[in-house]
Amino acid sequence: MTSPNDNLNTLEQQDPDVYAALRGEEDRQKTGIELIPSENYTFPEVLATLGSVFTNKYSEGYPGRRYYGGQEFTDKIEDLARDRAKTVFRCEHANVQPLSGSAMNQAVYLGLLEPGDTILAMDLSHGGHLTHGAPVSHMGKLFNFVRYVTDPVDGSIDYDQVRKDALEHKPKLVLCGYTSYPRDIEYEKFKEIADEVGALTMTDASHFGGLVAGGAMRNPFDFGFDVVTTTTHKSLRGPRGGMVLCTKDLASKIDKSVFPGLQGGPHMNAIAAIAVTLKRAQTEEFKDYAKQVLKNSQTLAKGLMDRQANLVTGGTDNHMMVVDTMKSYNLDGRVAEETLDKVHITTNKQIIPDDPNPPLRPSGIRIGTPAATARGMKEGDMEQLASWIDRCLRSPEDEAVHEEIRGEVVKFCAEFPVPGI
Ligand SMILES: *Cc1c(COP(=O)(O)O)cnc(C)c1O
Repeated sequence: MTSPNDNLNTLEQQDPDVYAALRGEEDRQKTGIELIPSENYTFPEVLATLGSVFTNKYSEGYPGRRYYGGQEFTDKIEDLARDRAKTVFRCEHANVQPLSGSAMNQAVYLGLLEPGDTILAMDLSHGGHLTHGAPVSHMGKLFNFVRYVTDPVDGSIDYDQVRKDALEHKPKLVLCGYTSYPRDIEYEKFKEIADEVGALTMTDASHFGGLVAGGAMRNPFDFGFDVVTTTTHKSLRGPRGGMVLCTKDLASKIDKSVFPGLQGGPHMNAIAAIAVTLKRAQTEEFKDYAKQVLKNSQTLAKGLMDRQANLVTGGTDNHMMVVDTMKSYNLDGRVAEETLDKVHITTNKQIIPDDPNPPLRPSGIRIGTPAATARGMKEGDMEQLASWIDRCLRSPEDEAVHEEIRGEVVKFCAEFPVPGI
């Protein structure tokens, strides 16, 4: 039996251009420190399953009810993935077919609501995601999104304002979850507010799904939530994909919404890889990983703040932090991101609450620890990282400093093998 890596040898002969880019990306991943909070290194078995024969198979429908023959093994794989998802997230139903995170959220809105219905969700510049009703998104045009914001003083969600917004706009769905918010969510408050106006509750746990799975962060289902969505490729460390988890009552609406409502054939290679990921998520090793992600995040945040960096909300409860680079270093987020790229430290420019600057030149950067932790980095390494980041951003023009740090980073990276390469 050949492994996907053996097949790369034939790729080298067949298509040297793609082969060269692939090797280049491998090298980039090995010799740099990945701090984009939504990225991770997946397990070698996930890479292998993604490149497996499940890629060849059409499986429209659900296990036991498919529109094509030959489903003996795909049914088994999808049942495994669904059952494991239910165990890991302690929920009644799981749909593992969404092709990615955006599709999974679209499936929820379109399956549970009517066009024009009101959804209460977090404002983009305060930490929400594009799929939470950004005006440029199709969902933002189809549904009436009302967006709540964070408290201007402490930066956390202003629950009194959320309640006022809910009472005023009577949403059908109250959505919490974020893409750039460094604090945990008070699910009991969201649930109370939603109950008061008779709305459904949804958490988009795309960023922290792996931390919930590993028991390091709280599970919205423990607070009576109706729906939780999560990507599978961020803190969960699986293939690129999305899942909708929900109560029994909503199961059939969600399933019909994913297929045939929104999608055609599921990617069975990704579903097989999700099954593999969710078995891993139940191990002690994964639980330790999830805890370490948070410890690393707190250590890195402290390291930066000890060096006078300004963090939105003044710290972190989760796997990420948002650094106000304008206030800290008088650099916009784009320059900060590009400067760190020079020393092989990968972050992303980030808008901050009520950012006066535009999205491509925002006032901050976002930093997260899931990928670095997957390579085995611990608290001491975060201290080292804080020192490099700070020094680099304090010398944005100094090529000599960049070269020195880059050399140190590359040497440091060699001690932390990338899983699967
Ligand atoms: C990443 C993310 C998504 C979308 O995921 P894609 O796979 O990029 O489509 C949705 N919601 C939140 C909160 C996210 O962070």
